[in-house]
Amino acid sequence: VVTGAAKGIGAAIAEAYSAAGARVVVADIDSEGAASVAGALGSATAATCDVSDEAQVAQLVSETVAQHSRLDVMVCSAGIATVNPLVQMSLDEWREVLSVDLDGVFLCDKYAAAAMAASGGGSIINIASIKAFGGSPAVGHYGAAKAGVVSLTKTLALEMRAHGVRVNAICPGWVGTDLVFDRKAELEAVLGIGFDDYIGHIQGRLGEPNEIAPLAVFLASDRSSFSSGTAYVVDGGATASLV
Ligand code: NAD
Repeated sequence: VVTGAAKGIGAAIAEAYSAAGARVVVADIDSEGAASVAGALGSATAATCDVSDEAQVAQLVSETVAQHSRLDVMVCSAGIATVNPLVQMSLDEWREVLSVDLDGVFLCDKYAAAAMAASGGGSIINIASIKAFGGSPAVGHYGAAKAGVVSLTKTLALEMRAHGVRVNAICPGWVGTDLVFDRKAELEAVLGIGFDDYIGHIQGRLGEPNEIAPLAVFLASDRSSFSSGTAYVVDGGATASLV
């Protein structure tokens, strides 16, 4: 199962999994987008799921197990962001982003881990962000959610170790998807710098979704059998710099 797979990083991971021979459930709140991605993959099915809704997540996992007899891999890529400095942010805006970016990962991980344990094990991959490790003006709610995702990744990895379930996080730098492009003008206004100049300075260039997907393939496979509880950074060197 790949959540948030109707586009962006999730879609690239679903495509890479399909190319590697997996039967993929393309899950997204965007039914049409999920159906379109699944249709293009052949061996995939689409599922509509709002990851912030516990009943929908429980149903996604139970239907996947019913249809495929087991769940081997859960990728949590569904995510949203808004742009606002913390002092101007309403509690509703804070909660909206955390409900998807943190609650959604908790719910998917919880139900996936239980299903995997029941069938002997599996691999959970949470898409966090480099914003888990440092401040990032105008996306404080998003960064707090991603730091929470890294933390829950580590705890769940320990809790599930005896059940054969590995849990890891991928922390991308800036990647060229609608999540970023849709907020470009707002970011420029808050940061007071041109978007391209900003990206060029901090990481050279935008990453591409298909530069994140290969790590998700590795973490899903038995080649990563000794990897668990770790947050893998893929950021073109953005976090290598102190300036
Ligand atoms: P995107 O906007 O291209 O795709 C996000 C997908 O999530 C969309 O298909 C959307 O419909 C889906 N989604 C949103 N809310 C949902 C919900 N409640 N339930 C189910 N699906 C929902 O974004 P992206 O850049 O591909 O982001 C994917 C993940 O990668 C996110 O968790 C994001 O935070 C993370 N990430 C992105 C970047 C980046 O620079 N693009 C960097 C670091 C981490």
